[in-house]
Parts: sequence; C-alpha cells; structure tokens
Amino acid sequence: MSVATPTATKLWIKDPLAVFNGAISGPDAERDCAGGLVVQGSTILECVAAGQRPTGTIDDIFDAHRYVLMPGLINTHHHFYQTLTRCLPAAINQPLFPWLQTLYPIWSGLTAKHIELATEIACWELMLSGATTVADHHYVFNHALSDAIDIQAEVVGRLGVRATLTRGSMSLSQKDGGLPPDSVVQSEQQMLEDSQRLIKRYHDADDGSMLQLALAPCSPFSVTQSLMCETAQLAKRHRVRLHTHLGETIDENDFCLKKLGMRPVDYLEHCGWMGPQTWLAHGIHFDPSEIRRLGEAQIGIAYCPTSNMVLASGICPTLDLAAAGCHIGMAVDGSASNDSSNMIQELRHSLMQQRLRYRADQITHLQVLNWGTQGSASVLGRDDIGVLAPGKQADLGLYQLDGLNFSGAHDPLAALILCGASQVSKLMVAGKWLIEDAEQTRAQLNQLKAQHHQFAKQLVG
Ligand code: ZN
Repeated sequence: MSVATPTATKLWIKDPLAVFNGAISGPDAERDCAGGLVVQGSTILECVAAGQRPTGTIDDIFDAHRYVLMPGLINTHHHFYQTLTRCLPAAINQPLFPWLQTLYPIWSGLTAKHIELATEIACWELMLSGATTVADHHYVFNHALSDAIDIQAEVVGRLGVRATLTRGSMSLSQKDGGLPPDSVVQSEQQMLEDSQRLIKRYHDADDGSMLQLALAPCSPFSVTQSLMCETAQLAKRHRVRLHTHLGETIDENDFCLKKLGMRPVDYLEHCGWMGPQTWLAHGIHFDPSEIRRLGEAQIGIAYCPTSNMVLASGICPTLDLAAAGCHIGMAVDGSASNDSSNMIQELRHSLMQQRLRYRADQITHLQVLNWGTQGSASVLGRDDIGVLAPGKQADLGLYQLDGLNFSGAHDPLAALILCGASQVSKLMVAGKWLIEDAEQTRAQLNQLKAQHHQFAKQLVG
C-alpha cells in the first residue's frame, strides 16, 4: 500500500465535533483549538479558536463537524513479531517466566519473512486504532535473523508511520542461568557492533524525525551485567535512548536479588542507566524510595495495562511515579501478552485498571488521553509530537462516533474512552493522510492478513 501525496497546500480541518489537544496542564492545555487546525506540509501551522477562521488564505477545507480530533496516539513499547503467536494454547494461562519459557523455542524459529509480515500487520493494527508513532523492542536474533531491525526500518519507511526501533539483545542463556535458549543469544561484541551500525544507518535526531534508534537489552534475566553497562556507555556516546523491561514481576525482583545480589532499580543504577535517556517497560514493583529515585532521574515508564492484567503482573503506580518526576506513556506491549495492538482500547484499559488503585476523580478520561499522546511523546524523548500546537508535527487522528456503542453519549471525548472506541476514521502522519477511509484500508489488508496467518501457523508447526 503506498503513502498518499503530502499536503503541500494549507488545509483547514474545520470545526471538529470535539478536540483534545494532548495536554491537561500548562500553557498547551489553555490553547483553544475548537475551530480546528490548519496543516501545511508536515506541520501544524495554526490552531483555530472556537467560532474563528484561520488567518490568511486557505487552499482546502475538510469539514470535521462529525469527528473528534486528537493528536495521533504514540505506542511506547511493543514486540511486533509476537503478532505471530497470539493466543497460543500452551502460553495463554501462564505468568511471565513460564510464559516466556514456553514461547522462546517457538520465537527461535523466526525468519526474515516473519519479521516483515509481523511488522506490517502490527503497524497497520496500531494505525487503525489511532497510533501515528510506533515503538518496537526487538530482541530475538537467531543465526538467520541478523538484519531484523533493517527489515523493520524498511517496513515503517514504506508505510509512512513514525517509529522508534530499538536494537534489543539477549546474552544470558539457560546455560548461564538466564531464561532464553542458547539459539537466540548473541555475543556481546556482535550486539554492540550491530547497535553502532544501526544507529549510524538509521537514527535521525532532528525535529520531525520519522525514525529513531534506541538500545534495548531485553531484561535483567536475559542479559549479562557487562552488556547492560556497555550498552549504557554506547548509548551515551551516540546520544541515543536506552530501553528495557523492568519492575514487571515479583519473580524478576527475586531473580535479581538471587543472581545479582541487588534489586532491579539498584541494578539499573549500578549499570549507569539512571537518567532521562532511559524508559522502562512496565515499572510496577518498586518500593517508595525506588519510586523517588526513578522520579529524580526523570525515567520514562511505558505503562502496559492489558499485558499486566493478562499475565497478572500487577498495577503500575502511575500517579506516584508521575508525582516523583517520571514521565508516563502508554504501550500495548507485545501481541503474545496483549493479543491485540489496539492503542485506543489500551487507554480504556488503563482507566479501568488505574481506578483499582487510585480514586475515580484522579484517573479521568483526559488523564489517560494525555498519557497516550503528550505523555508517550515525553517517554520517547520527543517534544515535536503528542500535542496539537503550531510548529508541531501534523500527526493526528479523527474519530467518528457512529457505532451503536456511542448512541446516547453526551461528552464526545469521554465517549471515546468510556464507550470503548476501537478504531480511527482518518489518520494523518507528518501532514499525509495514511488512512482516509478505515473500511477501505481494512479491505486492502486482506491479502496481507492471509499471508501473515499462514506464516503464523507455519512458525508454530
Ligand atoms: Zn515487552
């Protein structure tokens, strides 16, 4: 599927039904965009206040009165390849460690074609659910798959979606007391050299960047201590971000204490990871002093409510982490622990799960919308996306509330979350419409879906 022509002209997305601009506090939250936006090229030129017209001439108008307008959602953590192992009977009712031990041998059979198909399916699934920026954590590199990140870079470039790809790594196999099998573990030198190659080839740090690279050892229980420390040094030298899984389960804390003689946050500090360049997937099992230290370091947290509920891992202390100084963003996590890659539904799940921990008036629909937009942008270290404001990237989603589940709804923004929106109607990335008609897009994906399903069956055998 090819990418549409850029919007070279001034397009007024006029008078939407409702607007959420991404912010819930500070000057950005005060900005009135009720009259819509003017987009020119890849950026937002102007926010139009209620009842006003844009300044100057306009070349084209899109009447948005039947649509809710929001910044594109930003997914901060995924494992695209796991779309091939959704709902695998042997894994579906397991906690994290046995779940991983069931799946690793299957994942060790991944090929280049699997990665290509899985990346494309996951990206389209995310985009159809409102995501304009996707992050992936790929850490399975068997002998036939050394170019997995190159394959992903080709796919996201072809689709036109904004991306942060992370070069994952595993160096602690079963024979050394880790969880993964030997066949998916590489040497430290191999991983560090490939990380440098990928940063040089793909990482673009500029405003409006379509592709960024980050370094992402998989987890404390699959990576050696020296690789964690070396990776932090490499990231610092190349000024790229660091990512890993941390604080996901009690088992992980027990593993770290037993194997390393320290808790995960102490380990993070020991390896030189405590700083604003780091974002962590999950971030659940911390004590109050660890939350304070993570906040002081301005660590980002990729909050994954669905995965945390499916694996019964726990509830992320989002508001405590945010109060301490952490950035909170949203993520669907891999499709073997979520089984779907739906960003707008993830926000609904976050509201539901967080209300088991905090008061209902503290976890509002606007709070979770903020986590999925501006919050997620901060987690990925970006300030050019995540809010609707002049000069920001024109990444946005338009939602029509025409399903039965919305009938009788009063507040359109609350309806997106509480009535359970599941798909975007139109999606723009960097000023280009990637989805103009969601139904048509879905129909065009039928062939890809059939091929992906066939390769999923072949992988599991
Ligand atoms: Zn994950």
